[in-house]
Amino acid sequence: MGGNKLRLGRVLGIELKLDYSWFIVCFLVTWSLASHYFPMAHSGWPTSTYWSMALVTSALFFISIVTHELAHSVVSQAFGVPVRDITLFIFGGAAHISEEPRRARDELLMALAGPATSLALAAFFGLVWWATRAADGPPHAVAGWLAWINMAVGLFNLVPGFPLDGGRVFRAIVWSATGNLRRATAAASGLGRLIAFGFIVWGIWQIFDGNWANGLWIAFIGWFLDSAAASSYQRLALQDALAGHTAREAMMSDCPTVRRRLTLDVLVDQVVLPSGRRCFPVVEDGQLDGLLTLQRIKAVPRERWTSMRVEDVMIPRGELKTVRPDEDLNSVFERMVEEDVNQFPVMDDGRLAGMIARDNVLNFIRLRTEMGAT
Ligand SMILES: [Zn+2]
Repeated sequence: MGGNKLRLGRVLGIELKLDYSWFIVCFLVTWSLASHYFPMAHSGWPTSTYWSMALVTSALFFISIVTHELAHSVVSQAFGVPVRDITLFIFGGAAHISEEPRRARDELLMALAGPATSLALAAFFGLVWWATRAADGPPHAVAGWLAWINMAVGLFNLVPGFPLDGGRVFRAIVWSATGNLRRATAAASGLGRLIAFGFIVWGIWQIFDGNWANGLWIAFIGWFLDSAAASSYQRLALQDALAGHTAREAMMSDCPTVRRRLTLDVLVDQVVLPSGRRCFPVVEDGQLDGLLTLQRIKAVPRERWTSMRVEDVMIPRGELKTVRPDEDLNSVFERMVEEDVNQFPVMDDGRLAGMIARDNVLNFIRLRTEMGAT
């Protein structure tokens, strides 16, 4: 997560974001095509031709990756699983699917849509490559590389371990065979780490064999896959645990509310310290006016606590992000991370129903895990 992403706009209602690591890839691809690949494959063309070919190829490669991710998203939306955004990062893309698919078959088709699209693009560029073979000009060279790279992306993503698409395919198969999503997730993640380990061993073997540049790349991909497998497992395990639960189940409904005219010294002595809570809805005549957090109080110098009132430091109602009681816990937790807030007031028809904080969500899971409930 974090803020190191560039917003590109919306396609088919899905927000496209670019992780800054993508620029490294874009530069490396363009540079290596212009200065190595194209001059080696077709010597004797002007340098400017190699560079313009490389730029066009990078742009089409970028569009290919976006198309792969859009394919996942379109299929997932067709199954009623919303996709909020797609982030393109160093090794390709990631569609941000905010809910788990409900059926193994949906998951299987969602996962296969991406690699199938890449292979279709490979076939398309292969056809262009074949049709332009007589002229043997820049279009032929560009199409050839794009056919090869899309095939590589399609096949690599079919490797059956998380976080790759093949990992989701594998999980869907185990899920439909066992009927147990949690066991399927663990199996796909374990296989993902095993495959990552295989890449690392293969890379190290290549390095000792003298192919240090290739070996370093392979080992690096293995290391990346391993950490991604571990983190995608944690995220999926969290999603599985939260699935089907709502904000109402995890919220606190006995929040001490405070009035806007209260001075901070009185508030701290009479409400904050006795309650042990960290945030306080400001309610007047049954209406939520704002929210006061411990952080906001601490930001005011202590000597001013006698003169400052709740209304001077609270987050006003208009700036508050709220959730509904029937909102899915996954979406509540994702919004906390995305909007970088610790808690949301839970609003039911304009009335404050409770508060939900990160701690509440985590405690909710911990308690249910300990009790063996799901
Ligand atoms: Zn994919």
